[in-house]
Amino acid sequence: MATWQCVKQCGACCHLDPAERPDLDEYLLPDEMELYLSMVGEGGWCINFDKDSRECRIYPDRPRFCRVESEIFLDMYGIEPEELDDFAIDCCRQQIEGVYGDRSLEMLRFDQAVGF
Ligand code: SF4
Ligand code: SF4
Repeated sequence: MATWQCVKQCGACCHLDPAERPDLDEYLLPDEMELYLSMVGEGGWCINFDKDSRECRIYPDRPRFCRVESEIFLDMYGIEPEELDDFAIDCCRQQIEGVYGDRSLEMLRFDQAVGF
């Protein structure tokens, strides 16, 4: 069974372009939606994303919707803890495909790390 983990040198989920996430209002609360939109910067990237290091500049204080935690995923998406790995892997793969491509180094590294 594949186990989700975040890999270094990715950051695909920090590409927030709302045009690519049309269902945002289905899982974000109104104030979260406001926060989300306020974070969208140049080229659709989060203003807190450091493109050189590919890391979050506010990691310990990142919003709830940036966190892969079972309680949050249950609340936001109705995903039970035992489904979390598969669901989060799917989310990452979709995001990585959209940002870097299906055959990118990022996808390869992610698949290797999670055992997909
Ligand atoms: S898309 Fe997934 S692997 Fe890539 S930075 Fe986001 S959580 Fe980590
Ligand atoms: S706040 Fe941090 S983790 Fe969340 S999208 Fe922005 S850079 Fe990524």
